[in-house]
Amino acid sequence: MRILVVEDDASLARALTNLLSEEGHAADHVGSGEAALDVLRTEPYGAVILDIGLPDMSGLEVLRNLRSAGESVPVLLLTARDAIADRVRGLDEGADDYLSKPFAGSELLARLRALIRRGGGDAAPRLTVGSLTCDPAAQTAEVNGRRLDLPRREWAVLFQLAAQSGKVVPKERLSAQVFAFDDDVGPNALEVYITRLRKKLAPDGPAIRNLRGLGYMLSA
Ligand code: CA
Repeated sequence: MRILVVEDDASLARALTNLLSEEGHAADHVGSGEAALDVLRTEPYGAVILDIGLPDMSGLEVLRNLRSAGESVPVLLLTARDAIADRVRGLDEGADDYLSKPFAGSELLARLRALIRRGGGDAAPRLTVGSLTCDPAAQTAEVNGRRLDLPRREWAVLFQLAAQSGKVVPKERLSAQVFAFDDDVGPNALEVYITRLRKKLAPDGPAIRNLRGLGYMLSA
């Protein structure tokens, strides 16, 4: 999943993006509220980790801006220890969860998994497209009960196509949903993943169609 880290402490931000990458996410980092709002207007993130103490505005202000713009992306707030008022306000402003600094990486990942599982609402966590089932919480996929062996990027591509099944997903959008800005991927990376996925989905899984010039579509 593509995740945005909003944190002005460079070393903490680096630790967070490393942790997220190891967990199989594509993580981007910005250091100010303004930059966060900018990037959230254009990039499709699956979740945001948002520090309250930012140099230009409070993380709570970023959150309020997001929610008043109708943006429902799940947000995990990072608050100072014992800042109970901040947590209460954060939840009131539409944060999905919070974590007090300092925290263990394992706890952050557990909270994030729970957040993603809830999907910002009570949507059914599993996606089914014909014989294919995707479990976003476990990041696994099965075709007729046969578990697909999917490295994280392939899983991310398949999950995005399944979440938008029956629709044409433009290549640029799919790339934006799967890769972080500084991911080291070549121009044909997406095609490579699609080719591998087709082999793994065959013969009894749904097909990934390439609509030339338009994008990809997964359909049962
Ligand atoms: Ca901070």
